Amino acid sequence: MTWPCFSTANARDSDTKESVASEPSAGAACRRPGSDVPAESFVPESFVPESFGPASVDPALEAEQVGRLHQTVTFRDGRIERWREGVLGIVGAGLIGGRLAREAVLSGIGQVRIWDPDKTEPTNRTTQYGQVGVPKVDNVRADCDRIRLGHVLSFQTTIQHASIETLAQCDVLIDCSDDPRLVWTLTELSNGLGVPLLRAAVDGSGQMELGRVSSSGTLPDAACQLCSFSLDDLLKHRTRKACPGPWATQLAPTQAGGAIGGAIASIALLQAQRLVTGNDTLLVPNTEVLLDLTNMRLIHLKLERSVECLSGHRRWTLTRLNAPVEQTSVSELMAIIERDVGTPDLAISFYQHPLSLQAFCSCGATLDAPGTPWAEPPVCGACGTAMEWLQETELGSLSAARAAELNILHVGLDRLGIPAGAMVVVCMPNRPDRRFVLSGGESSSNPGVPRV
Ligand SMILES: [Zn+2]
Ligand SMILES: [Zn+2]
Repeated sequence: MTWPCFSTANARDSDTKESVASEPSAGAACRRPGSDVPAESFVPESFVPESFGPASVDPALEAEQVGRLHQTVTFRDGRIERWREGVLGIVGAGLIGGRLAREAVLSGIGQVRIWDPDKTEPTNRTTQYGQVGVPKVDNVRADCDRIRLGHVLSFQTTIQHASIETLAQCDVLIDCSDDPRLVWTLTELSNGLGVPLLRAAVDGSGQMELGRVSSSGTLPDAACQLCSFSLDDLLKHRTRKACPGPWATQLAPTQAGGAIGGAIASIALLQAQRLVTGNDTLLVPNTEVLLDLTNMRLIHLKLERSVECLSGHRRWTLTRLNAPVEQTSVSELMAIIERDVGTPDLAISFYQHPLSLQAFCSCGATLDAPGTPWAEPPVCGACGTAMEWLQETELGSLSAARAAELNILHVGLDRLGIPAGAMVVVCMPNRPDRRFVLSGGESSSNPGVPRV
């Protein structure tokens, strides 16, 4: 059996980076009851049909609305209260992720946090709700706000640019991205932050009504999404454009309809409810549920943990820093870290945000300029168009001396494209790496155009 849309991955290996792959990212860990989270959501007035009526914000009415659910087996023993305080992190707001978010809010989830860089396209209109030209996450959030106001935080960006803090506060991460290149990043985040990961995907070949939901746990014997991967699997789809240029990132469109999408979203919802409520959790970790509606079969597979797993199953120890990216320069960050680790002999790198040292233009010009994939690139002096960061010049890590050479010691972190809540990895001679998380990043936002 082949799985055209989710059999292999093309994620970057950020820890053993020898190539110039292209996907930056972020990740951390605690619980955030939904009731503590400010209602950031809003419904853009331009696309709220009046017929939906006012959204409910009355807690008593809300409790009544979800009251019958506590009689269902998954929410038994009062565990619906855990769901009502739970936080789901959903990656991808399309065929599966959009349905999942709406159902989660409908069933009383404390909060959904959802990431997707894309806007709704005309071709999405037969399988996804929402207005064309509007960011998918905004369409999802607007719909969810009509169901129950203020339970969605939306981020129009890729998961690599997410705040680690915002991810760490999720009870479950659910990959609905249909992007096999995110497998490495999401697995690393799940392992590092200790947040279980579900992966929900459909066979996008158009040949079968088929999909699956796999689950990675965070317990010591749990399998992760990479346990069955070889290095060849990871590299298989890594194709390049002519140099210089970014990695080719175009994926074939998903040829799948709402029926299988909805069925897979439902299975993912149920598995998430089990993980959050603690009821029937034995049915979730180390499993893969295959749903083959072409042959009307449901298959429950066991995933085995590999002792030689490429991911290493590493859990991160994170140190929080009070360092807002808008108010912190490179030198200030290094000074804070130096005080904490007790030595100036260190080099830093921003997780999933490698620093390029040059930009290039399609006219052939190149320019020495430092920036990460999310920094605004310089304008070409020769032809006046926006340049692109040259990934071939990405730096592994940055020492204070190198930062001085590059003249970026006094540049603000936000100007380099570092997001709020980013993770900074600190390397020191003869000492284990340390990981620090910058403050911020929990509000809905549109943090700029990501590299795609
Ligand atoms: Zn593994
Ligand atoms: Zn040019």
